[in-house]
Amino acid sequence: MLVVMQAHATEEQVRGVCQKIESLGYRAHAIPGAERTAIGITGNQGEVEPGSLEEMPGVQEVIRVTKPYKLVSRDIKENNTILRFPGSTATIGGNDLAVIAGPCSIESREQAFAIAERVSRAGAQFFRGGAYKPRTSPYSFQGLGEEALQIMAEIRSQFGLLIVTEAVDNESVDLVEKYADVIQIGARNMQNFSLLKRVGRAKKPVLLKRGLAATLEELLMAAEYVMSEGNYNVVLCERGVRTFADHTRNTLDLSIVPAVQRLSHLPIIVDPSHGTGKRNKVLPLSRAAVAVGADGLIVEVHNQPDKALSDGMQSLFPDQFDELMAQVRQIAPVVGRTVTQTGTQVPVATMNR
Ligand code: PEP
Ligand code: MN
Repeated sequence: MLVVMQAHATEEQVRGVCQKIESLGYRAHAIPGAERTAIGITGNQGEVEPGSLEEMPGVQEVIRVTKPYKLVSRDIKENNTILRFPGSTATIGGNDLAVIAGPCSIESREQAFAIAERVSRAGAQFFRGGAYKPRTSPYSFQGLGEEALQIMAEIRSQFGLLIVTEAVDNESVDLVEKYADVIQIGARNMQNFSLLKRVGRAKKPVLLKRGLAATLEELLMAAEYVMSEGNYNVVLCERGVRTFADHTRNTLDLSIVPAVQRLSHLPIIVDPSHGTGKRNKVLPLSRAAVAVGADGLIVEVHNQPDKALSDGMQSLFPDQFDELMAQVRQIAPVVGRTVTQTGTQVPVATMNR
């Protein structure tokens, strides 16, 4: 159920409807839109009796939502969600493309700083780096844990980059939430429902990666889990799915971008690194992701990819990231987007080496 408030409804009237919903034993989610506030009702097993709500002051109408996802849907919020960050001009979902770059894993302070310096100079507003790594083998590098989080906090203060890092389980959320600006939920955890609920109670935005074999509806339902707990700052991420194709690590499904945008107000970004698994495919697929209308990119960059402790094969050299930014800057305006002008501009002459 969805209660649509009148355009001129007061905050008090919105509060009154929320209180009424809660008194009936449900949960109320007031989501302000460009013109009016809509209040989503969750926690109901069956149908909510609309009668008493319809009569309340400030209420325009009560509508039944037939889709399984409610809070992620454009039914509740027509205009795009734009994530903003205190103390930063960076956004995700706004007109400006969000660019997140950095190594797969934080391996040392020296490595992380060398990469952060380069991606910041190239114009990324966000720094990625794993502190806790979900690895296929228990014998592979599992991440530096809190030490990595501390290194990234230093990177934020030195370069002004916002930090994106993954929480792999409920135990790691507390620390990740403390240090990060965005909590990443990895592909393998997209349907870890207790983890989704936990980050739904976090105070930081959540970057939710699509599962290896997840449908569009399953991805939206995973986001619904997070939002149903009260965290409305969710970014979706296409990072490739499993198919029979073996020329890439995964098959990057760019068609999900417009499909998501049609159904949901949430931003969606693309990860061409995990999406292809091959360094030489990252640049062309980044161009395609921007062209298809993605709200941003998350790209793995390493200063010494051949020595990387994880995902070296798909990590760009810093020079290649410069080139990626230069090309993205040219494509973005074609689809009505801007790229932040922070960082040093790359001379056009170096672009097509
Ligand atoms: C990562 O971002 O390094 C990662 C492990 O991603 P995914 O969950 O998409 O595999
Ligand atoms: Mn990786």
